[in-house]
Amino acid sequence: MVKIGVLGLQGAVREHVRSIEACGAEAVVVKKVEQLADIDGLIIPGGESTTMRRLMDKYGFIEPLKQFASEGKPMFGTCAGLIILAKKIVGYDEPHLGLMDITVERNSFGRQRESFEASLAIKGVADDFIGVFIRAPHIVSVGPDVDVLATYEGRIVAARQGQFLGCSFHPELTDDHRMTQYFIHMVKETKE
Ligand code: GLN
Repeated sequence: MVKIGVLGLQGAVREHVRSIEACGAEAVVVKKVEQLADIDGLIIPGGESTTMRRLMDKYGFIEPLKQFASEGKPMFGTCAGLIILAKKIVGYDEPHLGLMDITVERNSFGRQRESFEASLAIKGVADDFIGVFIRAPHIVSVGPDVDVLATYEGRIVAARQGQFLGCSFHPELTDDHRMTQYFIHMVKETKE
């Protein structure tokens, strides 16, 4: 059985734990750097990327997470977590972890649409996945090694680059666990 960590500093942590457990895997809420040694893959949840970053600095997570990635361990960023993973953020000089070769724009679906749901076709996951978008970012552009998995109204909302998976929406907020299952499959493949 694989152990999936959920970065537990801020945001929709419990919902991811619930989704991982519904898929039959073990979930660990990661609040301390030492716990990274114990997990096979990590989900960085949605929430508020600036707040999460502040806590990541406070608890010394930046370098250990880069190290975790350099060991080839899978990482999945959802919404704010996607922003945390990105190499470039529109309007900012520096990224957070800067791991995934994508450029993201924050809060890019407009104020009048702070949150909404949309049915998405996600490559390798589902043709009819309900994506819950909450002040969501989108992926403006991707590097050559990045596979676009889903778009919505012409904007990229899910992508994968080898060990890295990211999406604009919150896959943990419904009872459809296929996106979580896809990540768990990535983790199992890597472990084997
Ligand atoms: N708008 C948030 C940010 O920029 C992301 C929102 C979310 O994770 N639901 O960090």
